[in-house]
Amino acid sequence: MSTSPMQVSEARRFQQLRGHLSYLKLNDAAEALNRVLDQARTEQMSLTAALERLLEIEAEATEARKLATRERFACLPEPWTLADFDFAAQPGVDEKLTRDLATLRFLDDASNVLFVGPPGVGKTMLSVALGRAAVDAGHRVCFTTAAELAAKCHKAALEGRWKTCMCFFAGPKLLIIDELGYLPLPEDGASALFQVINQKYLKSSTILTTNVGIADWAGAFGDATVAAAMLDRLLHRATVAGIDRPSYRLRGHQNQADAMRKGVNARVS
Ligand code: ADP
Ligand code: MG
Repeated sequence: MSTSPMQVSEARRFQQLRGHLSYLKLNDAAEALNRVLDQARTEQMSLTAALERLLEIEAEATEARKLATRERFACLPEPWTLADFDFAAQPGVDEKLTRDLATLRFLDDASNVLFVGPPGVGKTMLSVALGRAAVDAGHRVCFTTAAELAAKCHKAALEGRWKTCMCFFAGPKLLIIDELGYLPLPEDGASALFQVINQKYLKSSTILTTNVGIADWAGAFGDATVAAAMLDRLLHRATVAGIDRPSYRLRGHQNQADAMRKGVNARVS
């Protein structure tokens, strides 16, 4: 069976079209081209509809790749979302305020969020949930702990990478610094933290979780001037959410203790 010139030129055009797509690095569209053209023929799609379908495939694949990159960069320690947070179990958290934070409007004016409270009350969970919302919304997020930030900055200073390190922490739209105050920061750690916060000041947001009440920061940093300067910048535009209710982590233990107490009381009476 001989092939007509029409078919030859059509086949060449197909190869060229796929070549153009590959050259433009639209690899997912290039790979889907055959399938979409078949679909267009069998379903008698319009030219516009077929082109839209082809580019939709590429756009979706690009978005998925970007999301995966943002997720990798964010280093969120858990897959928590706000839907996982049990507001009924934690009356110390203002649900309305938290849902308002989850709209991410605070990112628009580079506001900060401070979660202050004892261990186990949900500070990390809330900050991770807000981080997840920001990643999903297309923002660059970076999660770290205060101790890790201090250690990375210290190492970067020794290796002559201070500027790169500052860009790494100050660059993202949202930096989450967890567990400030749990471990004593080395002297250069407090200064590194201050410099990161200073660089972000009025430019991009920070979420900070801490077990140290704001009034006690001077003591926790060992340097009242650095603490005051840091708080000054952090609080200029900030939401401070104090969570003072009992630990969610210890809730199970609490229930066990209550049950035991009840059992003992029942036996005694
Ligand atoms: P914190 O950072 O304040 O020490 P976490 O956010 O790490 O506390 O919470 C401790 C544990 O309890 C985590 O496993 C978290 O998922 C869980 N948790 C805390 N509060 C809640 C809540 N309100 N709803 C569901 N899980 C919670
Ligand atoms: Mg925590």
